[in-house]
Amino acid sequence: MLDNRPTLPPEIARRRTFAIISHPDAGKTTLTEKFLLYGGAIQMAGQVRAKGEARRTRSDFMQMEKDRGISVSASAMSFDYGKYRFNLVDTPGHSDFSEDTYRTLTAVDAAIMVIDGAKGVESQTRKLFEVCRLRDLPILTFCNKMDRESRDTFEIIDEIQEMLAIDVTPASWPIGTGRDFLGCYDMLHNRLELMDRADRNKVAESIKINGLDDPKLAQHVPADLLEKLLEEVEMARELLPPLDPQALAEGTLTPIWFGSAINSFGVKELMDGIAEYGPEPQPQSAEPRQISPEETKVSGFVFKVQANMDPKHRDRVAFLRLASGHFQRGMKLTHVRTRKPMAVSSPVLFLASDRELAEEAWAGDIIGIPNHGQLRIGDTLTEGEALKVTGIPSFAPELLQNCRAGDPLKAKHLDKALMQFAEEGAAKVFKPQIGAGFIVGVVGQLQFEVLASRIELEYGLPVRFEPSQFTSARWVSGPRDAVEKFANANKQHMGTDNDGDLVYLTRLQWDIDRVERDYPEVKLTATKEMM
Ligand code: GDP
Repeated sequence: MLDNRPTLPPEIARRRTFAIISHPDAGKTTLTEKFLLYGGAIQMAGQVRAKGEARRTRSDFMQMEKDRGISVSASAMSFDYGKYRFNLVDTPGHSDFSEDTYRTLTAVDAAIMVIDGAKGVESQTRKLFEVCRLRDLPILTFCNKMDRESRDTFEIIDEIQEMLAIDVTPASWPIGTGRDFLGCYDMLHNRLELMDRADRNKVAESIKINGLDDPKLAQHVPADLLEKLLEEVEMARELLPPLDPQALAEGTLTPIWFGSAINSFGVKELMDGIAEYGPEPQPQSAEPRQISPEETKVSGFVFKVQANMDPKHRDRVAFLRLASGHFQRGMKLTHVRTRKPMAVSSPVLFLASDRELAEEAWAGDIIGIPNHGQLRIGDTLTEGEALKVTGIPSFAPELLQNCRAGDPLKAKHLDKALMQFAEEGAAKVFKPQIGAGFIVGVVGQLQFEVLASRIELEYGLPVRFEPSQFTSARWVSGPRDAVEKFANANKQHMGTDNDGDLVYLTRLQWDIDRVERDYPEVKLTATKEMM
């Protein structure tokens, strides 16, 4: 950022780690594909989807993903763009997976917000944007599908400013709309970018212009469109703020590029924008001190755990965002939570075409660490110092259901399966103090279905989810005596979560109000920092 941060080593300074947020169908997959194409990571468009489909046929669970057109699993992709290294972290698109998304966004330094030029800001864009705002993430906006009939440019910009309460500055300005869409005027570099409709994979023709009164413009833009362009750009420059890198870095201003991902149009300009304005790896908040990327010692934190990526092996991959230093394969790191050493001998780098052993990685990169369950979300790895990355929360679930094994003799196995999913972050599992079985908590209904099909597929256990008398859970804290007295008097509401922490299972908001009134020393909270 622009404050007084020290200059980063070139290898770190060239990294751009970001995620794409969008409403389903706005064009995230298409844009990702074009990124990889320009990054030289794939040879032709279609590979991301094809690869996605090959992956998805592996199980019915994945089939479900496909049927519903949602992407449940997040992954990371690394590729070079010019002298930059881009790390694109995929966010799950469905609203039922918002907690997962939130955690993914703790691992990036910026977000690309993709909107559909005809639809503007949609519900999911808005939710994801709010998550970015919690962290003041810098946001770059891409308004897609300009090759189709789209809304008036000022109207789109106004809607973003009003609905999301963020200033917008045009990085490009569209010329014409729908069938008449010609391309854009690049407001940052005074260039005319013309879209080639005949070749979807071709980079746009770029014409250097000496300001808006350059007669060259008239050679390429028909008179009526030119007149409109000049008028609109003049108005935009008068009414809208200029690109202020500081405001962008603080998340109060977003530059917007207009384009058409499917026609490869505007994508390169957006990538140049990420390179130029997307921030380099940022300091990471941690206890007892902040971690700076340029520190020579390696540190990182787990923001996601994915189990059973390969059904043949019960392996799990923990996704680690490197917060500092230069990592080399084979390094011995300290797993801070358990204070145990951990030799990282087969870290994985996620290149677009495949997984590959990571010989080295730098602050800002995402590596995958295969493990047997030692690594959990929120864990910090260092070269020995007892640092704990903060800001990775666990949210109270919004829906609770009882989970029972179809075969009662298999209850123990179910226990194990549920614990694994809890550690992966796919659900919360509560053990009530009174009564048998487990209560599973999720953020969205769809997660129950995903869980049921995964438990059956991965553990061979048919399960039933049934309504629970409880609707939510709160973590309990306070002076020991007070907590004990409270727990003893409310046994039928008490339970423990998968980490063994005490929770209060609630039926109504009224329950919570009552505890607050009757036990003023006891604190009930809806989020817990992952330990
Ligand atoms: P996602 O759900 O956000 O990943 O969206 P996709 O990338 O799968 O795109 C959704 C649909 O919009 C697909 O049918 C794409 O072919 C189409 N699409 C993507 N980009 C463009 C574009 O620039 N113009 C037009 N006309 N269609 C597009």
